[in-house]
Amino acid sequence: MDTSSILKQYEKEIYSCTMCRDGGCGTMCPIFENLGFESCAPRGLMRIAQGLMEGRLKITEPLIKKIYSCTDCGYCATRCSLNPHNVMLALRAQLIKAGKAHPYVARFLESYSTNRTPAFAPHEHRSDWLPEELRTPRKADVLFFAGCYASHHTQYMAKAVVKILDHAGVKWTTLGLDEWCCGEVATQTGMQKLSDAFTKHNILAINRAAEELGVTKIVTHCPGCFKTFKHVPRRLGLTLKVELLHITEFYCQLIEEGKLKFKESKKTYVYQDGCHIGRWGGVYEAPRKIIKAIPGAKLVEMEPRIRDLQECCTGSLKRWGCSASYALPSIKYYRDLSQKIVRRRFREAKETGADILTSTCGGCHRSFVGGNFERKTVEDVDIVQISTLVTDLMI
Ligand code: SF4
Ligand code: SF4
Repeated sequence: MDTSSILKQYEKEIYSCTMCRDGGCGTMCPIFENLGFESCAPRGLMRIAQGLMEGRLKITEPLIKKIYSCTDCGYCATRCSLNPHNVMLALRAQLIKAGKAHPYVARFLESYSTNRTPAFAPHEHRSDWLPEELRTPRKADVLFFAGCYASHHTQYMAKAVVKILDHAGVKWTTLGLDEWCCGEVATQTGMQKLSDAFTKHNILAINRAAEELGVTKIVTHCPGCFKTFKHVPRRLGLTLKVELLHITEFYCQLIEEGKLKFKESKKTYVYQDGCHIGRWGGVYEAPRKIIKAIPGAKLVEMEPRIRDLQECCTGSLKRWGCSASYALPSIKYYRDLSQKIVRRRFREAKETGADILTSTCGGCHRSFVGGNFERKTVEDVDIVQISTLVTDLMI
């Protein structure tokens, strides 16, 4: 047995898995549901981990493919206290150690070390989405943590948030260039130590903002940032000195205080519960409350796959089929699998009769917008971020 194995720390969990079936971890694992192979189910990953730990399995291309198939949806973590998802992350860490990680991991590492983000964009441009006079941190009540992708790529999302905050008369600031990646992408790729270093940097910067700028709340738009700040500080033995809210929870507070009101909409809306904001973050109600606060709007649900039973958009799976890894023979596999799952989810949204599919997650939004659906289907159901919806309807 390889006693130096990263997997060894999960030995107890791996050997405790009974491969149970009904109601177990694999029941709604999106990969197992769509491929049907035991080796792709969470319990299959437990057996792969056992095989590697005992030296009975070798790291082969098909095995690597299975390890990167997990979408990080967290379903199995909520179904079993043995937490197969943790074992999957340890498997990815083991691949890095063995020099067999997906080529994209090396690119992430490089981007983290040179740019403090996995978004492949220069750190000095992180605040470019803001007008120059607002890029420096200032005295404020609310700290908006924009996150990597909204800062560098989907800037319209960050701009929508501050437009709403201004509209509601909220005094807000950002961390400026003291904002680094929260660490979530590094966690998902198996680089836990790196992730923890980034999270720690941000926690200390947030706490400094509490002391020096008078910040009392931090709001995140990205569900990954929310998940990180909700769970990681305690594990690192640190405490956030401010209240943590997801932006949808903060919008609900503004609605209750009468600072955010909407014009009428006769549309029917359906909401996609993202994995990170839902299963990991525990935020299910706030986005629904926002839709219900729109006069004339109707909210329908993709029953029974809602809340903690929701289906993943496969946003993190798409990462492994990206253009940076053209040399990898399995690229088409990740793309096709992701498309298959998103298409099915989009069909479920369409079957509710909704006019508009909403989400709070940039990953969900990109998956649905970028989905290779038939043209007519996309035209039938619009896909809108909650923050964009708020900016469109607020009065
Ligand atoms: S990980 Fe837990 S739920 Fe899944 S098969 Fe093993 S014991 Fe059952
Ligand atoms: S986190 Fe989701 S995709 Fe990954 S193994 Fe668990 S249930 Fe399957």
